Amino acid sequence: MGSLAVVREEGGGSLTPLPRPLLTRPVVRQLLDSHGLQPSRALGQNFLCEPGTIEKIVRLAGVGPGDRVVEIGPGLGSLTLGLAAAGATVLAVEVDKYLIPALTDVVDGLDVEIRHADARTLDWAHELGDHQWKVVANLPYNVATPLILDLLASQPALVSWLVMVQREVGERLAAVPGTSLCGIPSVLASYWGQARVVGSVSAEVFLPRPRVESVLVRLDRSPEPTIDADFSRLAVLVRAGFGKRRKMLRGSLAGLLTEHEIAAAGVAPTDRAEQLDMDAWGRLARA
Ligand code: SAM
Repeated sequence: MGSLAVVREEGGGSLTPLPRPLLTRPVVRQLLDSHGLQPSRALGQNFLCEPGTIEKIVRLAGVGPGDRVVEIGPGLGSLTLGLAAAGATVLAVEVDKYLIPALTDVVDGLDVEIRHADARTLDWAHELGDHQWKVVANLPYNVATPLILDLLASQPALVSWLVMVQREVGERLAAVPGTSLCGIPSVLASYWGQARVVGSVSAEVFLPRPRVESVLVRLDRSPEPTIDADFSRLAVLVRAGFGKRRKMLRGSLAGLLTEHEIAAAGVAPTDRAEQLDMDAWGRLARA
């Protein structure tokens, strides 16, 4: 990618990367063609190709000079370039080995380290070390939700999150517990901080164009869990409660809590999971 990998030679002979243009639709098409690539549907490959949207995402992620950013699913490097241009150091984790040569060309000379790995099985503690990181991710929804919940629970070094997901998934993640849209991801994510939908992204800015609308969800991790309760215990109750979300709690939580214990926690046994706010979940988890 000669036109992208521009460098300036300094007095001492060292090479400093010049700012380079963000990826546009013709450039993404050219990258795919020149590397003989077909976007994989199974891996949810829809590549961003609109510089204005890329800049908006970087801004909403709050990424600036000196930040360490983990990008999960960098693809061809559309967002990676935007993150590097904002002055961040980027760790880019991509599962598809066929994309790695193109991605390597695009970010050549920038402060970007590429890991060819599945984000679900990466040794995160080893990669993150003692630093604090921001996460930017644009992933297929079947990977995104479990991965976010898993990493929130296991990696406190990931302090702020900006994820792009399909609208329904993002709205579920950001739903406030106790409201009708709320589900398992809403309550489990709320344990670590309140997720918010901070923007939407039109299908038009991707190549190929996905069939769904996307939203941007931001979550800043609270220094302490938002409720005083054991996370594993909470997760068991929440999965049981929403696993049978039409049932009253005395039915859905049977085997975990008696009707008497639910009532003693100040929760009506006739309520349903979606009616409980975080405090109520906390009281049940401590019961
Ligand atoms: N970030 C790029 C962009 O915005 O143009 C690409 C986004 S594309 C929607 C999703 C990317 O995630 C693809 O590059 C895909 O190969 C990658 N991916 C899918 N599952 C993954 C996983 N388990 N671990 C790491 N990367 C994954």
